[in-house]
Amino acid sequence: MPGLEDLYREIILDHYKNPRNRGHLDAPAVSAKGHNPLCGDEIEVFVLVEDGRVADVRISGQGCSISQSSASMMSAAIKGKTVEEVRALVSRFRHMMSIEEEGPAPDTTVALGDLEALQGVVKFPVRIKCAVLAWNTLTEALSNT
Ligand code: ZN
Repeated sequence: MPGLEDLYREIILDHYKNPRNRGHLDAPAVSAKGHNPLCGDEIEVFVLVEDGRVADVRISGQGCSISQSSASMMSAAIKGKTVEEVRALVSRFRHMMSIEEEGPAPDTTVALGDLEALQGVVKFPVRIKCAVLAWNTLTEALSNT
């Protein structure tokens, strides 16, 4: 039986090698660019919101396996969700990454799915910025809607 850490590593590598939702979207989709100078990660997130729901999402950019797999998992996780649900997921993910938030504690019943594979990153503080880059960029993109 492979251990949980091996399973998590496999999930991360799978998203890194076969990134979901790569590409870009034209207007009326909104977008934002994120950069993590500590590692050289670059991410651009495109989100098409229709009727308060993420109708489509695309990711472009380059960087380390943690940043790119986190972006891929994020894109798969948010597609079809309402903007409210997406914000709850962002908050839950940032909480998992041990990032202190202002305001109420995140709803821990929000399912993380494959994203749980990234929880081991918390043990490596310099990589946390890699893991949350896509999420911060997504939040910025959504603020443009
Ligand atoms: Zn990185």
